[in-house]
Amino acid sequence: MPLTLHAPLDMHLHLRDGEMLKNIAQASAHTFSGALIMPNLVPPLSSKDEIVAYKQRIMSAIGNEKFTPYMTLFFKPSYDKAFLASVKEEITAIKLYPAGITTNSEGGVSGFDVEELRPALEAMSELNIPLCVHGETNGFVMDREAEFVGIYEKLATAFPKLKIIMEHITTKESVAALDKFENLYATITVHHLLITLDDVAGGMLKPHLFCKPIAKRPEDREALLKVALNAHPKVMFGSDSAPHPKHAKESCGCAAGVFTAPIALQVLAELFQNKNATLENLQAFVSRNAQHIYGISPLTKQVTLEKKSFNVPDEYNGVVPMYAGEEIAYSLKEVRHG
Ligand SMILES: [Zn+2]
Repeated sequence: MPLTLHAPLDMHLHLRDGEMLKNIAQASAHTFSGALIMPNLVPPLSSKDEIVAYKQRIMSAIGNEKFTPYMTLFFKPSYDKAFLASVKEEITAIKLYPAGITTNSEGGVSGFDVEELRPALEAMSELNIPLCVHGETNGFVMDREAEFVGIYEKLATAFPKLKIIMEHITTKESVAALDKFENLYATITVHHLLITLDDVAGGMLKPHLFCKPIAKRPEDREALLKVALNAHPKVMFGSDSAPHPKHAKESCGCAAGVFTAPIALQVLAELFQNKNATLENLQAFVSRNAQHIYGISPLTKQVTLEKKSFNVPDEYNGVVPMYAGEEIAYSLKEVRHG
C-alpha cells in the first residue's frame, strides 16, 4: 500500500555552499516542502546580506523544484534588538553553536553565562525568534549532550518566553527535559532513531555513520523512538543531513556527518511501519509538529512512497549516503505539487 506524506519538512539541514550545494540541494528540495537551513558556512552567516545571498544561491541550486529554505542566522551574543528586528523577516530561527564543537562552529559561544547572553536572548524572546541549539559541552564524547542538559534548563528558566529547540537530540536525558520545560522543543534525526554506537564502532569502523552528536546507547535510542513514533507534539524531524566529499569521510581524520537527505522519508516510512506506528504520527513527526512549533505554512507537496525495495546508490554526486549499496524497503513513487 502506497502512503502519502503532505508537505514534509526537514527542520535541520546542512546544504553547504559552492559545488557541494549544487550537488546535493536537489536531494532535499525534491521530496521536502522546506527545510531549516543551518548557517555554519565559512564564515558563518551573521548578517542580513549574507543570509539573503545564501538563500539566492540555494534557490538557484534547486532549479525548478518547489522548496522553501527557512534560513537561520549564526548566534552571536553581541546581537542587539535593532539588528535582530532588521533581519527578522529573512530568518526563521537563530542557531547557537558552542565554540569548536562541530563542523565550522569556531566563533560560537564558549561560556553560557546567562547575564552575558541576556541582551540577545531577551531581544529574541520579544521578537519571537526561536533559538536552535547544538547542545554539547566539550566533555567526554559520550557525555557531552547529557552534560549540556543543565545549560538547556538554565536557559529555559531564564528566558521562559524564548522557544528553545534542542537540536538533534540523542539521549534519554534530553528527552526527559522536553516535558520539564514548556519552552523546550527538539529535533531528532533519522539515523539516531536507527543506530547506536555499536553500529558505528562495534565492529569494523563505519565512517559514513560517524556524526556529532555521536550515536549513543540502546536505552537512549529507545527514548528517542518513543517520542518520535508517538509524535510527541514537541518533537520534529530534522535530518541533520550533513554531506562531506567521500574522501573527507574515508580518511584517517574522518569528518562528522551522515548524509541522509535522499533516503530520509523512505527510511522513516519503513521504521514507522516496522514499529507499528501510524501514518498520522509519521505525518505529525515530519511536518505538522514543526508547523505548530515554528508557526510556518509550508508549500503544498504530496510525497507518495510505496513498499518496493530500493537499492541505495553508492554515491550521490561524490557523497556517500547512509545505507549506500544496501536495499531499503520503501521507494519514492511520486511527488505532486498543489
Ligand atoms: Zn547539524
